[in-house]
Amino acid sequence: MSGFVTRFAPSPTGRLHRGHAFSALTAYRAARQADGRFLLRIEDIDRVRCRPEFETAVFEDLAWLGMTWERPARRQSGHMDDYQSALEVLRAKGLLYRCFRTRKEIAEAAASAPHGAAEGFRGSPLSPSKERALLDAGKPFAWRLSLDAAAELLSGFDGLTFIEEGGGPDGETGLIPADPMSAGDVVLARKDVGVAYHLAVVVDDALQGISHVIRGEDLFQATHIQRMLQALLDLPAPVYRHHRLLIGPDGKRYAKRDLAETLADLRDRGVTAHDLKLELGFA
Ligand code: GLU
Repeated sequence: MSGFVTRFAPSPTGRLHRGHAFSALTAYRAARQADGRFLLRIEDIDRVRCRPEFETAVFEDLAWLGMTWERPARRQSGHMDDYQSALEVLRAKGLLYRCFRTRKEIAEAAASAPHGAAEGFRGSPLSPSKERALLDAGKPFAWRLSLDAAAELLSGFDGLTFIEEGGGPDGETGLIPADPMSAGDVVLARKDVGVAYHLAVVVDDALQGISHVIRGEDLFQATHIQRMLQALLDLPAPVYRHHRLLIGPDGKRYAKRDLAETLADLRDRGVTAHDLKLELGFA
């Protein structure tokens, strides 16, 4: 077995569709070809949107596609301590601040900013007395990463790069300079669940020893943020392979919110896993 380790990391917020099958099979095939390992990770930090029946369906759908994965699959909701430790590291380095603003307030701040909402939100820590007052009033808060503080610690992100072996939406490939500036002060711990996507992914990729992140190009921009977090947390950087997104008959990419035909729907109307793999170019 080689040192190649990759993963498929769905969020169980709905049934899987063709786009997920394409992504999972792409990662699976890469692991096979490299004589490596294929892991499954259930990204279920959002306890409201994620549902156990969708998680069961992920297992069913992947098994139907003929895939096997190392068990047990890592479930993010069972590893909150790992994310809290990472947050503690960032806090100790002075990189995080509490943000009490509501979504509405952030949208208003973006609308009145000189460049509109094109750039991500940039805030600043409150004075200790204001913060104390909000905390005493029991106001909920998120933890945001201060981009300015991160840039200072990482010499303006000078020389920070990641390797892209697939391609970004504009054909980006090779050694890519990480440029997290446009993302703004990303939330690393949400008000409701105490952690957020970017932080959980970076921590898990490191803890699971992922050597290659294989995923859709819709997450290419996220890589800039994730690479920065790896550097701030002294975590190794995997190689990235972003793949094209599958386009449906309507010319749009498959998405749960568009009620795309699910793998279960396909099965119900007699499509076999082999048929689907042929269609997607995996048979
Ligand atoms: N959970 C994410 C999603 O379903 C994928 C995260 C990743 O591959 O980094 O879109």
